[in-house]
Amino acid sequence: MRILLASSEVHPYSKTGGLADMVGALARTLASQGHRVGVVTPLYAGIRERFPALKQLDLALDLPLGSRTVRGAIWTLEPSPGLTMYFVDQPGFYLRKELYQEQGADYPDNAERFIYFSKAAARLALDLVWKPEVLHIHDWQASPAALLLHHQRKERGQGSTPGLCLTIHNLAYQGVFPASEFGLMNLPGDYFAPAGVEFYGKFSCLKAGLVYADVITTVSPRYAREITTGEFGCGLDGLLRQRNSSLVGILNGVDCDEWNPGNDPFLKHPYSVADLNGKRANKLLLQAEFGLPVNADIPLFGSIGRLAEQKGVEIMLAALEQEIPCANFQFVLIGSGAPAFEKAYQDLARRFPSQVAVRIGFDEGVSHRIEAGSDFFLMPSRFEPCGLNQMYGLRYGTIPIVRITGGLDDTVIDIREDSTKANGIKFLEYSASALSKGISKALAIYNDPGLTDFFRRNAMAADFSWGRTIADYVRVYQTLNERLKA
Ligand code: ADP
Repeated sequence: MRILLASSEVHPYSKTGGLADMVGALARTLASQGHRVGVVTPLYAGIRERFPALKQLDLALDLPLGSRTVRGAIWTLEPSPGLTMYFVDQPGFYLRKELYQEQGADYPDNAERFIYFSKAAARLALDLVWKPEVLHIHDWQASPAALLLHHQRKERGQGSTPGLCLTIHNLAYQGVFPASEFGLMNLPGDYFAPAGVEFYGKFSCLKAGLVYADVITTVSPRYAREITTGEFGCGLDGLLRQRNSSLVGILNGVDCDEWNPGNDPFLKHPYSVADLNGKRANKLLLQAEFGLPVNADIPLFGSIGRLAEQKGVEIMLAALEQEIPCANFQFVLIGSGAPAFEKAYQDLARRFPSQVAVRIGFDEGVSHRIEAGSDFFLMPSRFEPCGLNQMYGLRYGTIPIVRITGGLDDTVIDIREDSTKANGIKFLEYSASALSKGISKALAIYNDPGLTDFFRRNAMAADFSWGRTIADYVRVYQTLNERLKA
């Protein structure tokens, strides 16, 4: 099939979270299976320098944006056969220090930046010579493209656009802006209504996707069910219930080339389930890298991620405060986010320097070394659409401790669920004491080397390869196309 993906971040070009990993891996896997794939994404600072083979496409990108016309350009790159990257070049919008925000504050012109990006994606979906059959948009940043294509269909007929698939990676981020920003769409005002893109008097970019996409997917089966409820629906559960027959949950895969303990350029000591000695050696290096006492016998817990409320960082902090003084274990974390959380974790490290070490920032290499060197991986999210880190943990033989929610529930198996396939520890209640119990269970497992080995081997045996999940996406694309042709 011919598929154009549109995403505001794509690994290895740009990344703040799982969205980038997922889109990069989905595109590569589709192309490797013989599909014609394009990915449209902004040309952020540094990409041109890191990928000097970029070539400018002969396409004038003068797009209306409210009362003005904004000039841009498209640069292309062919990283592998069948896969073309299309970078939207608009220096005023995308050549910034970060992707979406600095020091916790969103860029004030994010509506313009991502409506422009969505317009560029819609334009490519219609004009590329290889005629994409499906435009697959991701999250709110690309969602306005759904309304643009819907409008085109209304004017020129059903067959005038590709089919439209939206993937929700996190319903909590919706791109909601003042009503006046709807003018940037240059579309008739009647779309700005509760049945359209209006969300309590404001303009919701994500709603454009939820209302007008032909099919909606999200990144795990459990999250697909959760978001139709008031508890997880972020105010959009009613709409999602209406669209339930077009909503599917497909578990994200892991890019097994990027995340392979047997061949990981960020690790000194490769290892595999057949020979776990390298894991121990990586643990010692990780302890040294974080300035902790180097001792293979001390259980080591790791965590990676955005320091946001969603990730359960509050209960993790409280559980660590509770457990650290009473037990001999270590904890390492890399993350960044809300300044108050950054400070709280740094304070914890200052108070318990021989047990806790914290890096504030984003570092790909450190994240790989934490996955490899830790014994346990903490991920106590309040909600989690899919979560990739726990899957990376499993692949690296690092036993995850997770809350029962979204993709965490779909990927980790507790001993109470299956005593032969158990690969992690799960708890339900969102509280520090429930997580503390999880930590105690982990310490008990660690005291029994046979049991640790059993969990570790089960973890490493889990198959989350894209090869497994890709067929689900292809099926969605095919059904969508058949429906549109009917
Ligand atoms: P989310 O997309 O909600 O942030 P996921 O677990 O799905 O969470 O994916 C997060 C991705 O971002 C993983 O690849 C993880 O390793 C990476 N990541 C998050 N924070 C950091 C960080 N501070 N340094 C390096 N990698 C990080």
